[in-house]
Amino acid sequence: MGRNAIQFQKGLSVPDFHKLYGTEAQCEEALAQMRWPRGFRCPRCGGASHGLVYGRRLKRYQCRHCGHQATVTAGTIMESTKLPLTIWFLAFYLIGQAKTSISSLQLSRQLGVAYNTAWMLHSKILRAMSERDECYVLQGKVQMDDAYLGGERPGGKAGRGSENKVPIVAAISLNAEGHPIHAKISPVPGFTSEAIADWARQNLSSSCSVLSDGLACFRSVVAAGCSHTAAVTGGRHPNELPQFRWINILLGNLKTSFSGTFHAFNFEKYAKRYLGGFCFRFNRRFKMAAMTERIANAVCVCKPCPERALRVAELYA
Ligand SMILES: [Zn+2]
Repeated sequence: MGRNAIQFQKGLSVPDFHKLYGTEAQCEEALAQMRWPRGFRCPRCGGASHGLVYGRRLKRYQCRHCGHQATVTAGTIMESTKLPLTIWFLAFYLIGQAKTSISSLQLSRQLGVAYNTAWMLHSKILRAMSERDECYVLQGKVQMDDAYLGGERPGGKAGRGSENKVPIVAAISLNAEGHPIHAKISPVPGFTSEAIADWARQNLSSSCSVLSDGLACFRSVVAAGCSHTAAVTGGRHPNELPQFRWINILLGNLKTSFSGTFHAFNFEKYAKRYLGGFCFRFNRRFKMAAMTERIANAVCVCKPCPERALRVAELYA
């Protein structure tokens, strides 16, 4: 049997990670390159001319035009962090390379930081990953399905409408050869026509041709300009049907990822960011070696978010 191309691709080894991001100076320079690939630009006035002010921690870029001082983390979700940048990069690495998912508890042990610190770090990184993927919509042929988080089995239909579970919608786009390309999974207020129409407008391009099972609410993807086909399942569960192969595999991976990682997880409160993190990794699964850098990039473009806001539910926001 041939080796699986995704599983056997070259990732970033621990020694290579240390060579690239082993010191504060290397991490600071990597962030500067990501934020200002063509050299520093003042965030206030757009000026390029600047001096450098060296302090105890990050160096400050001082604009010669308006006097504004910036650091590589200012204006990002890392702003005013007390953690060394090497810890941030190690977290990017651990989150990116984990086979399934990593919990905040595991992260706290591996980073050698307190649980609350790890939880906050993890939340910020997942938020950044989730936001990054929101910029994209699925194109072309799409398989779509409904499932529950926190239920017996995401993808299972038995629990439709049952309580204490988070209803989610999952979709996967396929290329002309029928291979999976990108995935989107997020919580919805319920399996109603209105919720599915909103979801489709946010996540699907009008070029999409959507295949779903017969659940009536899926018809409303046409509100986003998509075409829609409901597969005749003949009373069979879509899990058993070949035309739903990839969406079933995706939901299966999701289940493995979540059940193997999170024992006590507040699905209702944090589903969106965890699902966003899962999809971010899935959508870059062919680029394992670049995963740390991709996550760092996502964190660089994510705006600051107060701790209070991170602890508040963000169900459908
Ligand atoms: Zn300036």
